[in-house]
Amino acid sequence: LQHTQKFVYDFTEGNRDLKDLLGGKGANLAEMTNLGLPVPPGFTITTEACKVYLDSGDEPAELRDEVSAHLDTLQQTMGKKLGQADDPLLVSVRSGAKFSMPGMMDTVLNIGLSDASVTGLAKQSGDERFAWDSYRRLIQMFGKTVLGVDGELFEEALEDAKAAKKVSVDTDLDASDLKKLVKQFKKIVKAEAGRDFPQDPREQMDLAICSVFESWNTDRAKLYRRQERIPGDLGTAVNICSMVFGNLGPDSGTGVAFTRDPASGHQGVYGDYLQNAQGEDVVAGIRNTVPLADLEGIDKKSYDQLMGIMETLENHYKDLCDIEFTIERGQLWMLQTRVGKRTAGAAFRIATQLVDQGLIDEAEALQRVNGAQLAQLMFPRFDEAAKSDLIGRGIAASPGAAVGKAVFDSYTAVKWSRSGEKVILIRRETNPDDLDGMIASEGILTSRGGKTSHAAVVARGMGKTCVCGAEELEVDTKRRRMTTQAGTVIEEGDVVSIDGSTGKVYLGEVPVVPSPVVEYFEGRMHAGADDADELVAAVHRVMAYADRVRRLRVRANADNAEDALRARRFGAQGIGLCRTEHMFLGERREMVERLILADTDDEREGALSALLPLQKKDFVELFEAMDGLPVTVRLLDPPLHEFLPDITELSVRVALAESRKDANENDLRLLQAVHKLHEQNPMLGLRGVRLGLVIPGLFAMQVRAIAEAAAERKNAKGDPRAEIMIPLVGTVQELEIVREEADTVIAEVEAATGTELKLTIGTMIELPRAALTAGQIAEAAQFFSFGTNDLTQTVWGFSRDDVEASFFTAYLEKGIFGVSPFETIDKDGVGSLVRSAVEAGRATRPDLKLGVCGEHGGDPESVHFFHEVGLDYVSCSPFRIPVARLEAGRAAA
Ligand code: PEP
Ligand code: MG
Repeated sequence: LQHTQKFVYDFTEGNRDLKDLLGGKGANLAEMTNLGLPVPPGFTITTEACKVYLDSGDEPAELRDEVSAHLDTLQQTMGKKLGQADDPLLVSVRSGAKFSMPGMMDTVLNIGLSDASVTGLAKQSGDERFAWDSYRRLIQMFGKTVLGVDGELFEEALEDAKAAKKVSVDTDLDASDLKKLVKQFKKIVKAEAGRDFPQDPREQMDLAICSVFESWNTDRAKLYRRQERIPGDLGTAVNICSMVFGNLGPDSGTGVAFTRDPASGHQGVYGDYLQNAQGEDVVAGIRNTVPLADLEGIDKKSYDQLMGIMETLENHYKDLCDIEFTIERGQLWMLQTRVGKRTAGAAFRIATQLVDQGLIDEAEALQRVNGAQLAQLMFPRFDEAAKSDLIGRGIAASPGAAVGKAVFDSYTAVKWSRSGEKVILIRRETNPDDLDGMIASEGILTSRGGKTSHAAVVARGMGKTCVCGAEELEVDTKRRRMTTQAGTVIEEGDVVSIDGSTGKVYLGEVPVVPSPVVEYFEGRMHAGADDADELVAAVHRVMAYADRVRRLRVRANADNAEDALRARRFGAQGIGLCRTEHMFLGERREMVERLILADTDDEREGALSALLPLQKKDFVELFEAMDGLPVTVRLLDPPLHEFLPDITELSVRVALAESRKDANENDLRLLQAVHKLHEQNPMLGLRGVRLGLVIPGLFAMQVRAIAEAAAERKNAKGDPRAEIMIPLVGTVQELEIVREEADTVIAEVEAATGTELKLTIGTMIELPRAALTAGQIAEAAQFFSFGTNDLTQTVWGFSRDDVEASFFTAYLEKGIFGVSPFETIDKDGVGSLVRSAVEAGRATRPDLKLGVCGEHGGDPESVHFFHEVGLDYVSCSPFRIPVARLEAGRAAA
């Protein structure tokens, strides 16, 4: 690090583009300051300083001096000194990383209060109670977060003080009660932390800064980052901001606001306000807030000013913003803003609303939504017509329909979900310690807190269903039960259903129905006026933006006409993978068995000619469903044992029969064949093109079926566009042999039917050797389709069928990868083979058609990669086609 590096920025020096350095909060405080909005003065310590601290265990040498210089400026601006006895400047010390991590890291308010300055604050504010309340809050927060004292101890002392006075809310404690409480809090600190609460304000500040740095690496912060895929090495910035007070009486207060409804996207007044309170009271949901609209009646001047600021912010950021503000004796202060989190549905609505307002263009609108959100909108919902037992209603905090067994603590949630149970985590309110329980649950239900409570914010971020603030439900975590207003008791393990779109809570399992977005893609719903249709209209428009700009085409992995038709409705532009083995299941399995068992040419030909008409019929149907669009038919791929009985079962059957002396000839032959074909590593054995090369006539039969089906469709005036694909090729010689045979068959069919078929022949690239020799293989292939499932398996040496259940959890926990490489393409390894094979293939054959048909074809992040390396199309399961279309559009926009 250079010595000239600047570690501290005044709010007037930064801007919103400096999020890497100043964190989201710091960058936006600077932006608001420079917009001329009322932000309390302050400065930000950079993430670079945090990184140095975390690497070396010590603050960078220059940091203290820089902080001193900025503190001096701040003191001059404010006309008072930090902790000054007769009129103290107080500051907050808040964390603020590049990506928001709600409640994950430390914050300490009221720094600068001490035994000396508390009286100064009392005099200056004219409010003794307020001064002592602020002081007890400082000791409590500082004790808990900086000195590591168990927070419960302070809570209990506070509860005891209220109980002793027979009052229920903390505002009923007066100055002398709070004075006593401060004494007690200091005793707790001394006993638990082994030191006195620091009276030197600068020492308070420095310790708080280091504690914020350290909070970057707490377990819960790490867990949150892993979940949200936030890199672990970014560090947090620290914001030092002069305090303003929302707890100075009824003309003070604090609140949160959204410039639009984060659940529906509608414009209006959304937020919560809490009179006579500090910020943490709102976020923790400790006292019940009033709707923001009520502020108009409480303090019209501040309300009007806030509305004006919200409009300024929306127009400036051109997006939904969320805001934290405080009113100190009628003076409004902005404490934070950021582009706000929103539900999936709101993301689509807001994107189109902003286009209509002329604030953003279509390309930008595409960046405001993503495939994961679209996938979420395609989840089923509760069936409103179904009989259901409504037991309560809360706030619709994060949409979705979740059903599971009631659990009342995080530990049980995790334990039960590990053993395969679906659970709903029910709490009075959640806090950051509940994070792993929330992750493990289908949904979250709380009885307290609003749309901005911890539960709501975190659940929305995770895309989890959440109902919060269901006050009529009484949650008793100690006794692991919940009681409804009608007196019904729900015990741990009872099934409940929660609807995060309506806020309704039901006892028992409520059946689910498809989402309106799916109904729309299926062509069963069109844009209209009611609420669901407004969402559909927004999705419809955004999909049109994506389709207009995307370069990648999107095909489906489909093996039958029904799937093909659905895929077409969802926007598929062809079939990228028809797995013909799926056509040999059920009754046809025995025909394949006959083929495998055949000893003579006659027997083999008999089996093949029985299969031929069935295959042909499959293809006719498929080509008809996809008329006019390409259909890639892959010749038989799986190891043959998949068509034969299980070796153990068959051995037992034969042994039993032999002991009864009635073993049948066929079973004996079958057992022999099963033994012969048994492989230790079937996925690396006799499969793919190898089958075609050792079982005479198999691929020829399939090619004939394809060719005859295409001819039949042509004669019926159809437009079949079949492509024949050879799996698991490792060397060009394999492909050459198969091609020669295929070309002969095709020529025969063309001659016999008098039609020109224009079939193309290509290969999958799914073995490292194929990728490495792609230049040679392209000489014999008219197209490549990357089989990234097998390619991932063979590049990593991971069994695709086993590893996700065995050691992947450990790998994910250790951060070896953030997501399974079978889900999102491993760009550095597997991806680099794809990239070089694309280049080599195109060098040999410039018009080589390139696609991907592994699972990655429908994964948002992977789609961007395939766009970037220049594939022509991605192919994925029908249900994921809309997501792939959207992401292909986003990649190109
Ligand atoms: C692949 O390997 O990526 C592929 C699409 O083929 P399959 O999954 O059928 O092996
Ligand atoms: Mg494969």
